[in-house]
Amino acid sequence: TFCFANSQIIESEKAKIHPMDIGLIRGYGIFDFFRTSNYSPVFLNDYLDRFIRSAEKTFLALDFGKEELSQVIHELIEKNDLKNGGIRMFLSGGVSENHFSPTKGSFFIFCEDLDFPSKDKYEKGVKLLALEHIRSIADIKTTNYAFPVWHSKIWKKEGAEDVIYHMNGQVSESSRSNIFIVKDGKISTPANHILHGITRKRLLELAPQTQIRNITLKEALNADEVFMTSTTKKVLPVTQIDELKIGNGHPGPITKKLLEEFTELEQKISV
Ligand code: PLP
Repeated sequence: TFCFANSQIIESEKAKIHPMDIGLIRGYGIFDFFRTSNYSPVFLNDYLDRFIRSAEKTFLALDFGKEELSQVIHELIEKNDLKNGGIRMFLSGGVSENHFSPTKGSFFIFCEDLDFPSKDKYEKGVKLLALEHIRSIADIKTTNYAFPVWHSKIWKKEGAEDVIYHMNGQVSESSRSNIFIVKDGKISTPANHILHGITRKRLLELAPQTQIRNITLKEALNADEVFMTSTTKKVLPVTQIDELKIGNGHPGPITKKLLEEFTELEQKISV
């Protein structure tokens, strides 16, 4: 496959990064990740906006504007014949004398195979493990996922799909997804301490009556339906948190309807 490395398209295995880049030794860098559907980058504009926003917020200089990035991405899709795949953009903090201050970073765009949840998970729903944690600099798509990676050992052992983070009784999100709850037909999603997911944004357009507010863990446990949203999971039903069943323990009607509507929306834009 081919990737974009710093300023040119090269063979992916020839991409290089300096070992003292603070992206590696300090975890200081940003990324974003989106999908292609039938050779179309899905919601590309939103992902580029978020990536550029992450760069600005972390004081990292990105040498390319939206137009150029979009052009390169379309070229990579063609060169890699990426019909239904993932695309990852990564900008590192760069190499600095004091190994601490951001400098000019390395910038990559990689194409990847996609790993969707199995059909079974959409039919039965998944389990989340409740965990008291709050992501720092939550609205920046930083490459620092040290805590979630470290913690994944525990939820995997418990047969969970991922975690649901809460702090001071308030739910925020999962480690790589946003969270929604449904109670008495009303949809809500946490307002604070979250990454503003692109999938979440689309769902808010599909269900504009959704309340964006503080949600307690107790509310989530007592909800009729819970679901998680992300680029690869789309809309995935959550039917268990810790040892407690959510609602009747099966994916609910609103979750299923939103997954269908989201899938339709995405197909509409990629034909
Ligand atoms: N929250 C976190 C912490 C994430 O890392 C992600 C995606 O990776 C999301 C939410 C979901 O965002 P999106 O729908 O843009 O994939």
